[in-house]
Amino acid sequence: MRGKLFKRLIWLLFPQRCVFCNKITGFEEYCCKRCAEQLNKLDQPICKVCGKPLKSCVCSYQKLFFRRCVSAAEYDAFTERGVLKLKTGIQRDAATYFAALLQPVVEREYDKIKLDYILAVPMERNKRRRQGYNHAEEIAKELSNKLNLPFLPGILMRNSAVPLHTMDREERIRQASLCYEISSQPSRLIGKTILLVDDVVTTASTLNRCAELLLSCGAAQVYCAAPFTTLLK
Ligand SMILES: [Zn+2]
Ligand SMILES: [Zn+2]
Repeated sequence: MRGKLFKRLIWLLFPQRCVFCNKITGFEEYCCKRCAEQLNKLDQPICKVCGKPLKSCVCSYQKLFFRRCVSAAEYDAFTERGVLKLKTGIQRDAATYFAALLQPVVEREYDKIKLDYILAVPMERNKRRRQGYNHAEEIAKELSNKLNLPFLPGILMRNSAVPLHTMDREERIRQASLCYEISSQPSRLIGKTILLVDDVVTTASTLNRCAELLLSCGAAQVYCAAPFTTLLK
């Protein structure tokens, strides 16, 4: 109760702003009504594996190691504004909103799956140090609180800061296999079912490579979730 009152006081002094348009919103609201209506919530036939609308499915481009991936909304010029606010640190609590967007999708789509741990797609060490946090991890930690699932940090590592999003599909898949590695002590993953979280799914090659690494050290299965996914135009 006291915590809630304190939060409300903070909100009065520093009102919450919409993660997309920056307009002041209500207490503990991160997205205004107008922007919420602009989100493409993917209410069309969805691929049951990669989680994209069927015309944007990426399942045939690579051997998939994760069981399924789910997303809440399309990553377009509109949602990019919100993701950039989180990535650049302008609005770090956008992660709370993105996790809230993702939570009902995970609960609905993975309702029969007994998930053991949440992990996040890692950021290259120096980049993380400069930024002070990893945006995918921020979303994963928020989701971990909401779903009451333990978050495991420090298992996956990224060894290169080369930006994958500027590459074409083939190069991206190839580079993803070189960019990620696993720490030396992942024994707690053995036989476990992992929920792997990122911010945006494009070719799914990053999630796929991370899933491959997790399986290689004993994880039983990997399910993925990201608040946003790209669509083919
Ligand atoms: Zn707004
Ligand atoms: Zn697919």
